[in-house]
Amino acid sequence: MSTTQKCMNCARDVDLVFRRCPHCNHKMGDKTINDFTDEELLQQTEMWLSQMGKVHKSYVDHKSTSKKNVDFNELATETLKRHIKAHLSLLSFRGASNPELKAAYFKYRNQYRRFYNRRTTFKLLTFVFFGLIVFILFYCSIRKEHNLKVEESRSQDIKQESTN
Ligand SMILES: [Zn+2]
Repeated sequence: MSTTQKCMNCARDVDLVFRRCPHCNHKMGDKTINDFTDEELLQQTEMWLSQMGKVHKSYVDHKSTSKKNVDFNELATETLKRHIKAHLSLLSFRGASNPELKAAYFKYRNQYRRFYNRRTTFKLLTFVFFGLIVFILFYCSIRKEHNLKVEESRSQDIKQESTN
């Protein structure tokens, strides 16, 4: 069996995970990833996992790209995540009666989680870091202003003393 099917409209080979052709938006045939053999499922899950962190225009369906003001990176990532999740849930389902697939499911699921959790942690750390810098700058400027005021009042005191 093949892991792709031909689009009836543009004749391109399209991965079975797509319900609509990502090139021309034509509705795909009846085959889905449920038709994969176990071996194909493992191979395809690995293939999609290897795409994590990459941005591919072809992941994003036709309908979304025709909209204005879309964040392309985000859309591509969301689509990729959806594809991986579809494979993982099928793997988990088949794993219920197959220990080998079950082990593969946990391995791939962890790989998926590690990748996206690390990204979230990194984003969070960057956010905290910049927050801290802004705070320090703000604090310094307040201190500076305060010191200036102290100096000003001191020099006024001195002036008053000298006039007395
Ligand atoms: Zn097509």
